[in-house]
Amino acid sequence: MKFTCLKCNKEMVNTKAGNTEDGLTNTSFSCPECGSSFGLVTNAMETKAIRELVLHTEACSTPASTIIQWDKDAQARLSNIPEMVRSMAQKGIEKYASERGLNTITTDVMDKVKELYGM
Ligand SMILES: [Zn+2]
Repeated sequence: MKFTCLKCNKEMVNTKAGNTEDGLTNTSFSCPECGSSFGLVTNAMETKAIRELVLHTEACSTPASTIIQWDKDAQARLSNIPEMVRSMAQKGIEKYASERGLNTITTDVMDKVKELYGM
């Protein structure tokens, strides 16, 4: 989750986060570009929800343990696949690889997928 300045399209930065009595959280954000700012006041339940959402977002945006790379030959072969079906083929091959814990696509992997799916 992030806030962006509508005027500058910049990510707003968190400038203040404080708890007030009665369980409210008062958080300020401001734009590094134009300096406009706003405050967000949330109650205890909302604070919890936002924290969970932020944590969840961070967990989801951390790169997965399997980052699929294509080696040079595989890349060249991929580029020979007609553009219309290339992204589909690419996804299929990457899915095949990630399911098998492979992190590099080689022409060998492509051959196996080809056998399997007739691509
Ligand atoms: Zn701005």
